[in-house]
Amino acid sequence: MRRNSCAVLGAEPFFESVTAPLNLPADALVAFPRESLLALRAAMRRDAGDAADTWLQEGGFAAGAPVFAAFERWTAAQGFDAPSALGLDQFRALAAQFFRDSGWGDVTVTSLHGLVAALDAPDWAESEPGTAFPYPSCHYSAGLLAEFFSHVADAPLAALEVECRSCGGAHCRFLIGSQSVLTAIYERMSTGMDYAGAVALLAG
Ligand SMILES: [Zn+2]
Repeated sequence: MRRNSCAVLGAEPFFESVTAPLNLPADALVAFPRESLLALRAAMRRDAGDAADTWLQEGGFAAGAPVFAAFERWTAAQGFDAPSALGLDQFRALAAQFFRDSGWGDVTVTSLHGLVAALDAPDWAESEPGTAFPYPSCHYSAGLLAEFFSHVADAPLAALEVECRSCGGAHCRFLIGSQSVLTAIYERMSTGMDYAGAVALLAG
């Protein structure tokens, strides 16, 4: 666990006193190994091909609301305001800490040009280095993050994975923003533009 990563976000180091753990039974969550998720993904792709991507994403969507509810209780247990009342830097740092504590990886959350949020992890739990997928493939995670951040914004948001360890990336990176913005980014990527250039272009 990295306690000082909020420093890179320009936030105060307010995690030094964090002690409240996740309470899985109270949040109707279960703990299971990363290997189970990876085995499920592999079996679904083996038997269903690309259809598995959508099914995994739907599973992630279903997780978004209860995981966000757990995040609300987790922040409250530590004496912080409700997520909707947090400052942006504080929210990003707390969300990163929550996902780290949840076992998803050494997560950081930043902003790209004020247009989209970027969630990164060099050890994201759904990724499979060495599998050489032709495209980013953490579909369960994309669904989860889209729904989770939609609850934060109280508006429908989308998540697009633009870098992935499963297709040779050094980390997994998800862009989170409005559906229209992510569609515009995706369309530019489809013409050969890299996502960073697309974000910069759209941000003006
Ligand atoms: Zn990935």
